[in-house]
Amino acid sequence: MLLVSKRTKHHVETIKQRYNIPKGTITYTDLNIPAKPLFSPRYRLAGKPDYIIKQNQKFIPVEVKTGSSQHPKKNHVLQLAAYCALVEETYNTFVPHGLLVYSNASYTIPFDPQLRFELEETMHRIRDNLRNQQMRRNHNDPGKCRFCSMRTYCTEKLI
Ligand code: SF4
Repeated sequence: MLLVSKRTKHHVETIKQRYNIPKGTITYTDLNIPAKPLFSPRYRLAGKPDYIIKQNQKFIPVEVKTGSSQHPKKNHVLQLAAYCALVEETYNTFVPHGLLVYSNASYTIPFDPQLRFELEETMHRIRDNLRNQQMRRNHNDPGKCRFCSMRTYCTEKLI
């Protein structure tokens, strides 16, 4: 039992080091074992962050990207914002920021009023486009559609 616990702890520490994840307890992960998606009835969203870590009683979503980047990319920031919203609703708590992790750097992205507004605006725009059928699918991968947050509204979904 003690051996298993030590191995698990070592595994978690290895993951944290590999992905530059700061101190805190990992409470959710989708990278090694597929996890259940989180749902937000308020935002009408679903999604699976790579990790959620608990730091000082706060839940912080972590999105890990392959490749490097000299700055946080806008689409990645909005994806992380959606995870922040999902975590807030799932854990019924305030999420101050999320973490965007690239192979060369990690960025703390504040989930501030401006980003919340941008997230809502983007969601509205995407939903309008999907409703008006102004958006066409650009892939043939059912796996992408399976947990897509826009699945409910999308007329192009594969499954
Ligand atoms: S459900 Fe599939 S096709 Fe529709 S937006 Fe999502 S990923 Fe794209």
